[in-house]
Amino acid sequence: MSQRVALVTGGTRGIGKAIAIALKNAGRTVAANYNGNDDAARAFTAETEIPHYKFDVGDFPAVQDAVARITKDLGPIDILVNNAGITRDGTLHKMDRESWDAVIVTNLGSCFNMSRAVIDSMRARSFGRIVNVGSINGQMGQYGQVNYAAAKSGIHGFTKALAQEGAGKGITVNAIAPGYVDTDMVRAVPPAVLEKIIAKIPMGRLGRAEDIARGVLFLTADEADFITGSTLSINGGQHMY
Ligand code: NDP
Repeated sequence: MSQRVALVTGGTRGIGKAIAIALKNAGRTVAANYNGNDDAARAFTAETEIPHYKFDVGDFPAVQDAVARITKDLGPIDILVNNAGITRDGTLHKMDRESWDAVIVTNLGSCFNMSRAVIDSMRARSFGRIVNVGSINGQMGQYGQVNYAAAKSGIHGFTKALAQEGAGKGITVNAIAPGYVDTDMVRAVPPAVLEKIIAKIPMGRLGRAEDIARGVLFLTADEADFITGSTLSINGGQHMY
């Protein structure tokens, strides 16, 4: 594989960390983004030697600045993995507007902000790989997650539209829809609820972050140039879409 530059948002913990490591092991030059957890970011860089960049993916001007900085440090971005995401769960009748906005801006607005910041350079160089991390809950909905399900569902539409725009320019755009993966995000789910979720997974276990990273490696390979606008479900058979 050639020495491509990859940027993974939310790349210092959980699924993003596994993606960043897998890309590095595949010979990519990798940058990992995060937003607040400095300790985790420092530990990540100490362990992997992958540099971290702190900025809020939901903040358009901050994203433009950061992408310019990363480009200066490492070169133009060939591979963008829009992985950063948050949850602010609650049933609609109890959800405040702030929880709605935070999830839409961080999970979906970020895909616009990040893709907008790299697309001109990808178009100019006639190469790009964009992978957006959606969710099983964007495909099938989930009680207590109207904000998250809407944002993730939006990611799948965003992916198909941008895939059409990039196709003539060597830019592929795909989504991965993970099922439940053993990360901090899922560890926040009450154990009794988690037990019921695992009971519905035919493979009988939670996903591992590395299971998702494997899909990103596949979709971002130079050779994957005929795969675009697709959604790869990696969920242990929980939802067959
Ligand atoms: P984690 O909560 O473990 O990690 C989230 C990462 O995103 C952290 O690095 C965090 O940074 C970063 N992040 C959060 N908000 C921002 C922001 N505004 N700007 C920049 N970075 C930010 O999440 P997971 O690894 O579990 O999830 C990764 C992705 O996969 C998310 O999009 C999630 O929705 C999706 N997903 C996860 C599933 C699961 O079961 N875990 C299932 C389906 C989809 P910091 O460390 O600074 O907080």
